[in-house]
Amino acid sequence: MESRKCVLYDRDCIGCLECEICDLDPNKICDNCGKCLDIKDYATIRIDKIVGLGEQKKRTK
Ligand code: SF4
Ligand code: SF4
Repeated sequence: MESRKCVLYDRDCIGCLECEICDLDPNKICDNCGKCLDIKDYATIRIDKIVGLGEQKKRTK
């Protein structure tokens, strides 16, 4: 089974969920509310990966 790389640290993902913690409130799990984003007329975001339909089905099994 292929291991997933951690998005925060130089290691494989250990499932700690630290990357899910809100940037503004350490007691909150991110719900994508957008409050940490300074969105005006437009915004630029960096994406790590686009998940295809086949991979998405594997992840939801
Ligand atoms: S769950 Fe933890 S180990 Fe996995 S990507 Fe997020 S921060 Fe890294
Ligand atoms: S989108 Fe909302 S919940 Fe997620 S990190 Fe930003 S402020 Fe926190």
